[in-house]
Amino acid sequence: MKAATLAGVDMLDVGGYTRISDIGQLGDGRDGREGVVRQREDVYDLAKGSRCNVHRIYEDNDTSAYKRRVKRKAFEDMIIDLQTGTISGILAYNIDRIARQPRDLERLIDIYEQARRPMVFGTTAGDYDLTTADGRFQARIYVTIANKFSADAARRVARQKFAEAQDGRPHKGQRAFGWKDLEHVDPVEAEIIRKARRDILNGKRISTLHREWAEAGVRAPQTPEGKTISYTSVKYVLRNPRLCGYRAYIPQEHRERSGRLDPVEYLVERTDGTPIVGKWETIFSPEEWRELVDELDARKNTGAGRQVGSTVTKRLLTNIARCGECGSGLNSAMYQRGTKSYEKYGYYYVCKPANGGCGKLSRSGPPVEDYVEKILLGHLKKQAHDVTPTEVEDPELTQAKEKLKQIDADKAEARALRAQDRLSLAEFAREISRLEGKEAELKEKVSTLAVSPIRASSAAARIIREWKSYTVDMKRAEIRRSIEAVVISKAGKGGAQRGVFRPELIEIVWK
Ligand SMILES: [Zn+2]
Repeated sequence: MKAATLAGVDMLDVGGYTRISDIGQLGDGRDGREGVVRQREDVYDLAKGSRCNVHRIYEDNDTSAYKRRVKRKAFEDMIIDLQTGTISGILAYNIDRIARQPRDLERLIDIYEQARRPMVFGTTAGDYDLTTADGRFQARIYVTIANKFSADAARRVARQKFAEAQDGRPHKGQRAFGWKDLEHVDPVEAEIIRKARRDILNGKRISTLHREWAEAGVRAPQTPEGKTISYTSVKYVLRNPRLCGYRAYIPQEHRERSGRLDPVEYLVERTDGTPIVGKWETIFSPEEWRELVDELDARKNTGAGRQVGSTVTKRLLTNIARCGECGSGLNSAMYQRGTKSYEKYGYYYVCKPANGGCGKLSRSGPPVEDYVEKILLGHLKKQAHDVTPTEVEDPELTQAKEKLKQIDADKAEARALRAQDRLSLAEFAREISRLEGKEAELKEKVSTLAVSPIRASSAAARIIREWKSYTVDMKRAEIRRSIEAVVISKAGKGGAQRGVFRPELIEIVWK
């Protein structure tokens, strides 16, 4: 420690810097917790041999996948302490532990150059006197080389990982939710996922699903100890391409640039554009998984997913019920607390001038809802028993037809983008072939469903069976499949009798 010895009299207060990293090991094998313990011992050994006092150990954990986005908190603290004179130097196992990249080193050099006091920069491989041109030259060379080795190591790891992906080998490390290990399905978790898919396709929101999972204590392998599963995890579990055997590969640079990415966008494909299928047990067929992802994507576009901060309660018939006077969709409102109506019904539907309505109609909520549910279930029951073709289309068929329309629109959009040169020929070709593949699939589905009233009847039977466990969102989705509107008329002269429900004032308009 040249500076310290020159100072002669006092012990210098210095900082010890330690860092865990995953790449850029340079063969020292000093990574992970164990490595940090040894790095720390090195710092104290250095201090002993150089009349320095370790004021504080600054420790960063650099194993994060998003390296460039994560600020090294301890490093930043150390910079401040150097600038303010709290410490007069740094001790570390090696210079590349301290300065990961040349720009880190330049920041340190600025401080050392401007300091008007003895400063230390010591490592087990030797000291650097950053106040001299020679010392700075050595330090810069060393950091540049270390940086280059790190980048090479990262590239080697990336090449290796991509090769594994192309080979359909599973991601290493932690198991995914739904599997016991890298290959074998966990029957309990798989069933939770299958049920979630059915619920989502029936209109359940992810936020509802998230709440249910959290309440039931469903946990992802990544869920931290003592915490409940996060909303993001629930979404990730359902979008995971692994569910149907598809292998995703997200390059490290992409992760660093943008944090959590959607693996759906990163399927590994063969040269013909078909996805690589991995070597593990699956929970869904590719079609089932796609349908789920499409449903989630469609919600993203309409904003119908999680409604953050929304205070308006959607009731069963909000905007499905319409005013018989002016035709506006009805909203709901609570009766005033303490009134008899509040005790008995809680809320009512109302034609609100604020939403462009006439303001002349209101009706207690629950009786209307009970009535509509009863009629709908009766209608479904008839479908369930009725094996002859009915007027009512199978919801699955309606959905498939709608998706076909969407594909037409997507194709038109792709052609437009291509015409404006915003898609490369290769991208365009791939997109069109993807869309056409999906189109063929859907057309086949439409032709099977169109002649299959039996399918419709079994779907109806299932809905009746599960109706009680449906959430409001799911029930709304089901109502919308069969019912265009529920028109509520005003009671005529002397018609409004307290507490008497009059079904003749309600007209159900079927689709
Ligand atoms: Zn009205």
